Amino acid sequence: MKFNQFVIIGLGRFGSSIGRELMQLGYEVLGVDRDEEKVEEMSGVLTHAVVADATEENVLRSVGARNFDCGVVAIGDDIQASILATILLKELGVKKVVAKAVSELHGRVLERIGVDRIIYPERDMGIRVAHQLVSPNLLDYIELSKQYTIAELNVPDCLSGKSLSEVNPRGRFGCSIVAINKPKGIIIAPTASDVLAERDVMVVIGTNQQIESFQHSIG
Ligand code: ADP
Repeated sequence: MKFNQFVIIGLGRFGSSIGRELMQLGYEVLGVDRDEEKVEEMSGVLTHAVVADATEENVLRSVGARNFDCGVVAIGDDIQASILATILLKELGVKKVVAKAVSELHGRVLERIGVDRIIYPERDMGIRVAHQLVSPNLLDYIELSKQYTIAELNVPDCLSGKSLSEVNPRGRFGCSIVAINKPKGIIIAPTASDVLAERDVMVVIGTNQQIESFQHSIG
């Protein structure tokens, strides 16, 4: 399902950053915050920004929250407000509700009340940065499941000029290069004769273990 209209509850660092990016991507965003200053700051950025307490049902109704495809509850420290705002958005019939959790317990409560996606910004970013610190070639990754990952790896010097059949990650480690992003364009499903060069980025799919072994082998 494609979403076009978003309502963001809480315009702190997390909520405002999501709002700015969604606007840049061309979507409509309503921002709600009980803090007048935050709303003022974002009023020129978002489609609409209103001062309101999102724990009050009539308030959420009056701003038309139910007409939005997706709601983001970006309240952190006030866990009670986060939970109440989430329940209200769900009850009003917002199709997808995404919420930020500041602790495991907060996340568990959000899960119980049926949040579609729970985000732990600090925890998840910390994990991501740790992976990048220990793997200098790792640019980014997506966990497909607990076991499987897609990773974007820089092509190091030692692989520059080598064909995929020479590098042979599938034969040696079990993971596959599914794309090579070159400055001139991306090669999807590269063949054995495609050659890697410095400044290319390899997109690799495999189990975490396979990708780790491949990364170790290339430094
Ligand atoms: P961040 O770490 O993203 O800055 P904060 O928890 O500091 O997160 O910010 C959350 C925002 O949510 C604040 O701007 C706060 O004013 C707003 N907020 C908190 N409770 C409510 C509420 N009941 N209704 C509307 N906005 C709220």
